[in-house]
Amino acid sequence: MFVAKKKDGSYFSLLDWKRREDMERITKGESFYCPACNSSLLLKQGKVRRIHFAHLNKSCTASSESESPYHLEGKVKLYESLLQYNQPILEHYIPNTQQRADVYVETNYGRYAFEFQCSNLPAQEFKRRTKLYEREGIRPMWIIGQEKLGPPDNNDSPLKLSPFQWRFLQRPSPHIQPFILSFCPYQSIFTYHQPIFSINSSTTYVNSMTSENWIEQPGISFQKRPIWKEHYLHYKKKWRYEYSFYKPYQKLRKYCYGNMNIPLSLLPSEIGLPVPSFYHIHTSLIEWQAWLYFDSIYHMPPLTLIHLPSVLKNFRFRLKSTDISLRELPLVKVGAYEDAIVEYLNALVEIGLLERETPTIYRVLKKSLPLSTMEEAHKQDQVVLQTLLRTKQTTD
Ligand SMILES: [Zn+2]
Repeated sequence: MFVAKKKDGSYFSLLDWKRREDMERITKGESFYCPACNSSLLLKQGKVRRIHFAHLNKSCTASSESESPYHLEGKVKLYESLLQYNQPILEHYIPNTQQRADVYVETNYGRYAFEFQCSNLPAQEFKRRTKLYEREGIRPMWIIGQEKLGPPDNNDSPLKLSPFQWRFLQRPSPHIQPFILSFCPYQSIFTYHQPIFSINSSTTYVNSMTSENWIEQPGISFQKRPIWKEHYLHYKKKWRYEYSFYKPYQKLRKYCYGNMNIPLSLLPSEIGLPVPSFYHIHTSLIEWQAWLYFDSIYHMPPLTLIHLPSVLKNFRFRLKSTDISLRELPLVKVGAYEDAIVEYLNALVEIGLLERETPTIYRVLKKSLPLSTMEEAHKQDQVVLQTLLRTKQTTD
């Protein structure tokens, strides 16, 4: 911590003192207390860490973060980056929620509590702290330490996102695309990572945008990098040849063979299509779409009507039996997993398998022909992707 309370109740910030001698003179013989829990604080000046206050005992719960050198540095740099706003407050304590935000800022758009997170925080605690802020009408601006997100994304390789990292995904309103915000204390750089396609639960392609300033309403200047499209066919091939034989897919494999009489490696090419709202679902794209396709579409003869509510019902059954799992994203305020399902059905319309009769009723146009060889499957995957990309270009 950098801010403490003195005996007389006034606040004292270590950042106000640039020269060490001045600070030493001022702090000599003075007692300091935590503004949140009032317990005594020690002034610590180490070689690695910046000079800071620390609790004598570890019972304070106002902050979620252990004060590593990286975190202390990040807090200071974050505060300095936000100085252009009207009086940011370092370590702002909010009595009603008993939370101490790393930095607190008020703008014309709203009130923000910046939380610079560099260590793992359990899902429950992340959610709890988020809710408390929101109850006060404050938007928590969770920022992940760049170090914690992995090396800076300067090439085309995808990020590996753990469930912890996914939790930082935020989407405050419909016109802003979802993004994960990271901050590097050493360079004072914000990076906005917009996930565009995941091939499994972690490996995710992102569009990135860096900025020296925090951008309140990001989303217009993301650099478009459709690199995943080149990797997609390679991944699908690998899935057919390798992954489909993996143990986690045993149930799906059995189901596929038992009901459709096809090996999972030859699953139809219309399974595993990219959809914009994919991030709501934790289960990999191919897997959840396989369940959906086998449950709701595969058996239907041409001209049959498919009703969205029954597709959703089948999907919910898979959720219940944990064949499919969702992501809990406390900062995503727009949309839900159902969007991904509708987008998938619409993708099937684009490739000519379904026809959209009404927003909730689809008609089966043709039955997909069973694939008999891997060669054929790979060719068909190519055709499907090309068809999708072509229709995308005309509608973009
Ligand atoms: Zn305390």
